[in-house]
Amino acid sequence: MNGERIRVLLIEGNRDDARLIQEMLAISSVSLTFELERADRLSAGLEQLAAGGIDAILLDLSLPDSRGLETVVQTHAQAPGVPIVVLTGLDDENLAVRAMQKGAHDYLVKGQVDRNLLVRAIRYSIERAQTQEALQESEERYALAVRGTHEGLWDWNLKTNEVHFSPRWKFMLGCEENEIGNSPDEWFSRLHPEDLERLKKEIEAHLAGLTSHFENEHRVLHKDGTYRWMLSRGLAVRNAAGNAYRMAGSQTDITVRRAAEEQLLHDALHDALTGLPNRALFIDRLGLLIGRAKRRQDYLCAVLFLDLDRFKVINDSLGHMFGDQLLIAIARRLEACLRPGDTVARLGGDEFTMLLDNIKDVSEATRVADRIQNELATPFNLNGHEVFTTASIGIALSVPGYDWPEDLLRDADMAMYRAKALGKARHALFDRGMHARAVALLQLEADLRRAFERQEFRIHYQPIVSLLSSQITGVEALARWHHPQRGLVCPAEFIPLAEETGLIITLGEWLLRTACAQNKAWQAAGHSQLRVMVNFSARQFQHRNLLDLIQRVLGETGMAAHTLELEITETLAMKDIDFSLTTLNELSAMGIQISIDDFGTGYSSLGSLKRFPITTLKIDQSFIRDITNDADDAALTTAIIAMAHSLALKVIAEGVETEEQLAFLRSQKCDEILGYVISRPVPAEAFTKLLEGGGCLSPGAT
Ligand code: C2E
Ligand code: MG
Ligand code: MG
Repeated sequence: MNGERIRVLLIEGNRDDARLIQEMLAISSVSLTFELERADRLSAGLEQLAAGGIDAILLDLSLPDSRGLETVVQTHAQAPGVPIVVLTGLDDENLAVRAMQKGAHDYLVKGQVDRNLLVRAIRYSIERAQTQEALQESEERYALAVRGTHEGLWDWNLKTNEVHFSPRWKFMLGCEENEIGNSPDEWFSRLHPEDLERLKKEIEAHLAGLTSHFENEHRVLHKDGTYRWMLSRGLAVRNAAGNAYRMAGSQTDITVRRAAEEQLLHDALHDALTGLPNRALFIDRLGLLIGRAKRRQDYLCAVLFLDLDRFKVINDSLGHMFGDQLLIAIARRLEACLRPGDTVARLGGDEFTMLLDNIKDVSEATRVADRIQNELATPFNLNGHEVFTTASIGIALSVPGYDWPEDLLRDADMAMYRAKALGKARHALFDRGMHARAVALLQLEADLRRAFERQEFRIHYQPIVSLLSSQITGVEALARWHHPQRGLVCPAEFIPLAEETGLIITLGEWLLRTACAQNKAWQAAGHSQLRVMVNFSARQFQHRNLLDLIQRVLGETGMAAHTLELEITETLAMKDIDFSLTTLNELSAMGIQISIDDFGTGYSSLGSLKRFPITTLKIDQSFIRDITNDADDAALTTAIIAMAHSLALKVIAEGVETEEQLAFLRSQKCDEILGYVISRPVPAEAFTKLLEGGGCLSPGAT
């Protein structure tokens, strides 16, 4: 037989009733056949159920061995998956309803049953049992999923305004299942006050249909009293009219991720070594305060720009590890000097900046600078080393006119340079004049760069005259800049700048070549032993191509090496003695003469200079100026000349202006002189005339 077969177990004590049922189910169709088995008491029925294969049970509630609800309970317990249709008498409908609660699927009232009703009841109860089983399975699966996931879930019934929070959701906040109820407030009341508004706004926006889904990051209070960062996501369920009646979603703990993000942000805005704010953060805060200063007339803030005075020495001598430790220790001391609202930052290297918020007047800023200097005066103890340091501090105030934080910082920096120039270990206040000077310097620098291309440089020549022969024996080449607007600019003004910008290298090369070529021309014209003296600055002297350059120039001009005399200052020679010694020895080996310029202005002794292969000493003009009216200067000059001679050095007196000075120097056996008494520095053509005139020491020569 094809079609469906349903095995029904009828547990019925009453034989007539049993027969009636039997008859009703006996009529089978092609598509459906009932196989009926019968038990006349519960015990027999349970046994048959144990054998299995039963699809549905028809159960009478008044059996010889069991009555009432207990019958249902036992039957259901024996075969939980098999649907039970209870058969009751007319007066027992209440009992039937309660039987349903105990596991029965349906009930029929005896005497009111016909075949159709019976078949439908059996079939429906089977179907319902099947869906129930499926539902249970799916619910179990869901529960498992919920338990398994890391996320907490919430399900908000918008009609009743109740939220179901999953156990995991509650656990994420450190709570047990029963510690959190169903109110949305359980969530909102735990939210960080700063995050609540935004969360609510985003929920509203989604409910109103403005966003495709709800998503928000916020802090929620954990039972342990700390806040945890959570990511909540959700979706509204809407009716046909589009109105949301339910919203459900998840909660993920993102505390670790947020901490990593915050660390990244912190790193981007702080100095890794000292942990202080860095330049970016400092500029940001300064920008805020400048904005405040622009809005409020009575508001004033100050920037202190601090640079350590001898950090490089410490770093180079004790090593970078110590240098780093010192910077950290300084950072801590600086912090201790400031009030809570102030900022101290490290810009890099040994540069620190401080932002003083809301100060009354400039004296408050200078007091802080004093305090810092006092604080730094106590030596630092780094691994047993006592380290002393001082700092130069520039101060700039947020006076009207500042639009950008960078400008205020720049001015504080400029004032710091001023403090350095004034002798370090002090503070200087920025003033508008500084800015003007800096701008002028910048302009000069730009002009200087252009000057070389435009060939605005000249050389003036000043004769060196022998006191023995009264003849011109040498010539000092002195740089001049013919500025298109300012006229002749003296070297004291542009040489340091050329030195700083590096232009001195190209300029110096041109000077050397031109001076040597010129001197060679004079030699060729009959003054064969004429020496040319060329000044060399630090950067030129330390340039690695120095020897090459000189060799090349001598080769090109054909001038004899011994007629070239290089002038370096005493200070420069003593700066790096080993280097000077090597370089000067090499120059000397080439046959070049070396003279020490401006002697007497440095701190070196003649003895120490003697280690160098020098040939000439030029006594600085500051000694010569007063030799005729200052006994000390006269005695000093006499001593220098005598000592130089004892070391077989030639002596040249610089800046001789009067006949009296000349007479004195001659009496002291000074070898040569240079000064206005003979001639000022003059262009080459004029110098040629001097040479032709014999260069004799006639008074009144200019
Ligand atoms: P310096 O080498 O000591 O040059 C002597 C300076 O004294 C020159 O100043 C000269 O004009 C000046 N002078 C000479 N006789 C007298 C005098 O009787 N009375 C007075 N009051 N001054 C006198 P100048 O030309 O202004 O040069 C200043 C300094 O600039 C030079 O001092 C030198 O150190 C530097 N300098 C000049 N030319 C060059 C150069 O080509 N290269 C480098 N590196 N430095 C240079
Ligand atoms: Mg000189
Ligand atoms: Mg000099």
